[in-house]
Amino acid sequence: MAHTGIMRYQDGVPQIPAAAMSNPDADLVNALLKRDPNAILELYMSPKDLGFNTSYNVIAEVTGSSKPNEIVLIGAHLDSWDEGTGAIDDGAGVAIVTAAAKHIQDLPIKPARTVRVVLYAAEEIGLMGGKAYAEAHKAELPLHYIAAESDFGAGRIYQIDTKVNESAFTAVQKALSPMSFNSVILGNNQASGGPDVSMLPALGVPVASLRQDGHDYFDYHHTPNDTLDKIDPAALAQNVAAYAQFAYIMANSTIVLTPFTRSSKE
Ligand SMILES: [Zn+2]
Repeated sequence: MAHTGIMRYQDGVPQIPAAAMSNPDADLVNALLKRDPNAILELYMSPKDLGFNTSYNVIAEVTGSSKPNEIVLIGAHLDSWDEGTGAIDDGAGVAIVTAAAKHIQDLPIKPARTVRVVLYAAEEIGLMGGKAYAEAHKAELPLHYIAAESDFGAGRIYQIDTKVNESAFTAVQKALSPMSFNSVILGNNQASGGPDVSMLPALGVPVASLRQDGHDYFDYHHTPNDTLDKIDPAALAQNVAAYAQFAYIMANSTIVLTPFTRSSKE
């Protein structure tokens, strides 16, 4: 059982095959070696580079009631490695942000800003959808109030971190404090926001990271074991509640979050 993922070569180096073993097979090989230290492993690898094809980001919105042009972005990614079903990476994230937006959609009074759900394409092969979104929406980025991505399974959220203007941080924490009723504590101001929104802070967009319990995430992720039975419905519901609460509070917030210290890459 491979542990799938991405690898890169530096320019100009010989490209040799590489493989990663999943936890279940690593345990199996360990057990075999204990029994027979001279055991021989035969490895068959069959990957082919089939080149690039087109896939699409999927975007939906709950239109804001008084500031419809301003956006609170909650995202996840649609693609997964082919071995498992992609339940935890990132079916869970897709379900979490979609359900969170549905809860907001169902409210009798919509929040001020638009809540935009972005389901990114082609995250696993190098954040293609995230980069394409940042490029295609370049002119609109100043209207992005804050962004966050759910991409770590459905383990419970225990903390929320942000990346906003330092002078706004205390006020943002106060605004988000009702999340503690859902067992989410207030964290730091060093968030990266998740893979597909990680390029946005350098472009001036504030982000938040809703930190999850991931103690078993890497036991399953990118393997045939990434299936729906690994998801605890109660923990999934806690995630949905946290994203709904985060998006709703941010969509109604009057705090000015920008500008903040931008990355030195600029
Ligand atoms: Zn992922």
